[in-house]
Amino acid sequence: MTEGMRELLLSRIRDVSDYPQPGVMFKDITPLLADPAAFTALTDALAGVCARHGATKVVGLEARGFILAAPVAVRAGLGFIPVRKAGKLPGATLSQAYELEYGTAEIEIHAEDLGGGDRVMVIDDVLATGGTAEASLELIRRAGAEVAGVAILMELGFLGGRARLEPALQGAPLEAL
Ligand code: AMP
Repeated sequence: MTEGMRELLLSRIRDVSDYPQPGVMFKDITPLLADPAAFTALTDALAGVCARHGATKVVGLEARGFILAAPVAVRAGLGFIPVRKAGKLPGATLSQAYELEYGTAEIEIHAEDLGGGDRVMVIDDVLATGGTAEASLELIRRAGAEVAGVAILMELGFLGGRARLEPALQGAPLEAL
C-alpha cells in the first residue's frame, strides 16, 4: 500500500473518546466505509494480503470484521466464513470461550465450513488485546484447517495484542495495515 493510501485510510478513521465506556478511545471506521475510494483501497490491500499468503478462505469476526471480510472474499475469489458471537449460527458449531478484561466471551463457527486443505485468513478492523483473534485461530485449527494469517486494519500497540497472539499464530503472519 502506498503512503498516500495509508494517509487516506488514517484520515477516514474517527477517534471517539470514552466510547463505549470511560477510558476507551474507540476507532470508528464508518467514515472510511462511507468513502468508496478509501473502502476500495482497504479491500484491495486486504485482498492482496490474502493472495500473498496463499489463503483459500476468509474468516470475518463479528461484527465489523464481516463488513471488511465479505468484499475482500469477493475481490480475492475466496469463500467467506463468519465467526459469530455464541448462539447466532443455526448449524452444528464449534465454540471457543476467551477472557475479556472483565468476564468472558464466546465465539462460534459452523464446523462444516472449514476442513483439511483450507488455509484461512482472519480479518477484523481493530486488534486490541488480541483475545478475539486468538480464539478465532483456535476455532480454525479445531475445524481442521490451517491458519494463513491475521489481517487487520489497525493495531492498538499499547494493548499488547501482537504479543498475546504470537504463540497462537505459530509462525503465521499478523499484518496490520
Ligand atoms: P480484542 O479481542 O481485545 O483484540 O478486541 C477486538 C475486538 O473489539 C475487535 O473486533 C474490535 O472491533 C473491537 N475493539 C476493541 N477495541 C476497540 C477500539 N478501541 N476501537 C474500535 N474497536 C475496538
